[in-house]
Amino acid sequence: MVAPYLVELTTDEQKKRWLPGFCDGSLVTAIGMTEASGGSDLAALRTTAVRDGADWILDGSKTFITNGYSADLVVVAARTSPEKKAKGITLFAVEAGTKGFERGRKLDKVGQPEADTAELFFDRMRIPAENVLGEVDRGFIHMMERLPQERVGAAVTNIAHADQILRETIEYTKERRAFGQPVGSFQYNKFRLAELVTAVEVTQAYVDNCVAAHVAGELTAIDAAKAKWWSAQVQNDVLDTCVQLHGGYGYMNEYRVARAWQDARVTKIWAGSNEIMKELIGRDLGL
Ligand SMILES: Cc1cc2nc3c(=O)[nH]c(=O)nc-3n(C[C@H](O)[C@H](O)[C@H](O)COP(=O)(O)OP(=O)(O)OC[C@H]3O[C@@H](n4cnc5c(N)ncnc54)[C@H](O)[C@@H]3O)c2cc1C
Repeated sequence: MVAPYLVELTTDEQKKRWLPGFCDGSLVTAIGMTEASGGSDLAALRTTAVRDGADWILDGSKTFITNGYSADLVVVAARTSPEKKAKGITLFAVEAGTKGFERGRKLDKVGQPEADTAELFFDRMRIPAENVLGEVDRGFIHMMERLPQERVGAAVTNIAHADQILRETIEYTKERRAFGQPVGSFQYNKFRLAELVTAVEVTQAYVDNCVAAHVAGELTAIDAAKAKWWSAQVQNDVLDTCVQLHGGYGYMNEYRVARAWQDARVTKIWAGSNEIMKELIGRDLGL
């Protein structure tokens, strides 16, 4: 998620400062857009950055930040020209350890316990001008230009996750027996699995097209939105049925399918919820 910001928006001096550590893994990064007051309406963010000589003074907070608890460098979106709404947001590379930077608690999530997610607080934090990313007041555009890549990336993992657990579930239903026959051989279950395999394969073809379009520099924000919400929906439908087909074992944390189901729930929420993706598509239809 952070790579495009550090590669495409940085000066040569910034590249030298951050890219080596970013590439060898010693510099852990995060991106802070969402705030407690709301994440869908990104243009309404409340964190501010006010110029003070050559520096900026950052005040505010972020929440639900992936890697927030362990990050060394956080790309933070802040309001720099309040009167200009979406056109008054700037991105800053915020270095952890700087006075005024604090992390809140590590948030207790339903799934994905391996990934840290945290709140971040900025209290009159002084940021040097050399840590501005991209252009002042163009932060919203910088984010909008990079969200399609994040969303198609999400679609790739959504469908890969669903595909793997579905394959494992098909094997399970061949072995698990009830009423003297494999549970997968009951017509209802067989048809359900046939529907899900079809949904995964058709979705995969659409996502593959989006990846090819992205590589060619032709992926539109609307097609990325379609790939993201649809793959998240298919993934969640698939995993819910996979849990069902495992019976009681599907609800046990020691079973991969149970953890996969918990892990998947967030994909309909993060990086722009399914509703926001449909809003973008609907607007594109002229509605
Ligand atoms: C595990 C996890 C990791 C995350 N990682 C990051 C991260 O690294 N960086 C970061 O910046 N953010 C991150 N997020 C935040 C995530 O992007 C937001 O949670 C998401 O954008 C939704 O914002 P919100 O939670 O404020 O919900 P809200 O904006 O309050 O929305 C609440 C509900 O209202 C719906 N809604 C809102 N507007 C509309 C509308 N116009 N029409 C119809 N429905 C609408 C939403 O779809 C949602 O269902 C993460 C979230 C989670 C859970």
